[in-house]
Amino acid sequence: MSVPALTTLSEEERLLRDSVFAFARERVAPHVAHMDEESKLEPALLTEMFQLGLMGIEIPDSLSGAGGTFMNAILAVEALARVDASLAVVADVQNTLVNNALMRWGSTEQKQRYLPKLASSWVGSYALSEQASGSDAFALQARAERKGSGWSLRGRKLWITNAAESSLFIVLANVDPAQGYRGITAFLVERDYPGFSVGKKEDKLGIRASSTCELLLDDCQVPQDNVLGEVGKGYKIAIETLNEGRIGIGAQMLGIAQGAFDYAMGYIRERKQFNRPIADFQGVQFQYARMAMEIEAARLLVYNAARLKDAGQPFVKEAAMAKLCASEVAERSASLAVELLGGVGFTKEYPVEKFYRDAKIGKIYEGTSNMQLQTIAKLLQSEYQG
Ligand SMILES: Cc1cc2nc3c(=O)[nH]c(=O)nc-3n(C[C@H](O)[C@H](O)[C@H](O)COP(=O)(O)OP(=O)(O)OC[C@H]3O[C@@H](n4cnc5c(N)ncnc54)[C@H](O)[C@@H]3O)c2cc1C
Repeated sequence: MSVPALTTLSEEERLLRDSVFAFARERVAPHVAHMDEESKLEPALLTEMFQLGLMGIEIPDSLSGAGGTFMNAILAVEALARVDASLAVVADVQNTLVNNALMRWGSTEQKQRYLPKLASSWVGSYALSEQASGSDAFALQARAERKGSGWSLRGRKLWITNAAESSLFIVLANVDPAQGYRGITAFLVERDYPGFSVGKKEDKLGIRASSTCELLLDDCQVPQDNVLGEVGKGYKIAIETLNEGRIGIGAQMLGIAQGAFDYAMGYIRERKQFNRPIADFQGVQFQYARMAMEIEAARLLVYNAARLKDAGQPFVKEAAMAKLCASEVAERSASLAVELLGGVGFTKEYPVEKFYRDAKIGKIYEGTSNMQLQTIAKLLQSEYQG
């Protein structure tokens, strides 16, 4: 009996991937350079992403979503990142962090209130990091105190993706620092709640069109109904959401690796030196053959982690490996693309230098590469203890 390769897609998955890639090539590509230059998303593209169902991929049909799978979200993120990693991370955070957390831990009322909006017009953000707590995420300082029938949030969040565009923020704050991480609680914060504001926007090396901003919580008033999950269970929501989210970052990195590779392959088949296309030199052939192998290996890891997640099987180690590997492969593929284009690869007239800049974030957000190695090592230790 033949077993299909992990990269074998169903007809429906192939259609989805191809249609998202067509959207990216035809509609997104013309805006990529100026969005990068101006550090700003083209608002019309966001509207189109909602219209295409790309912002609510796993949200059920009954709540106005596309009713898809996690694998569908992964394929969409990969296809977008082949053209623009910024737009890919907008969709990634929305689908794999915000929508996922709400679908998993939201009350029926919260799901009915927010998921149709997230599927149709509201962008969402996920706010865990702070100035003093990055890798050590649960050392967060943001506080939540009971006030009247609800909560008052105080503190600052840093590095929040999508914050310039978002209407809804999942904010992690501690209700009882004496309890340590067991005081951490997740709150659903709407942009216009009193005491909430979006602060400084970062000027970044890569994924420049994706907004990354500070959030200011100054006696921010949140109704009791907007606690996501249980009080004191925010750490669990944060860990489990990020475990899934990092497969999405793996997909974003895979898209970058593939996009840079595709561009370089087109170029080296045209560009001649010594009267031959440079793709014909063995030294170059060995470079692109090895790169293609690495991209395929990263794809297998990313798709395997997504398939395990969809099948309800353990996937945490596989997700960490997928993100770790794909972010390394993205950096190498984009770097090789710059080199294979020679001098023009180093200029902004060609897209490969942007792939190179965009690849760098893969080793940093949703857990740095060292944190992925730590997760893998911990899980290996418990496996070997039996
Ligand atoms: C563009 C961008 C978007 C982001 N989006 C979001 C978002 O939407 N929501 C959100 O909550 N956060 C977001 N982040 C924050 C991101 O998750 C953190 O930057 C990341 O977790 C690293 O934390 P840090 O920057 O504080 O680095 P640090 O934790 O200070 O790490 C610095 C270095 O030290 C290493 N290090 C730290 N501790 C250890 C250890 N124990 N062992 C070995 N090495 C260690 C790290 O690997 C890293 O190389 C974003 C960041 C960026 C840059």
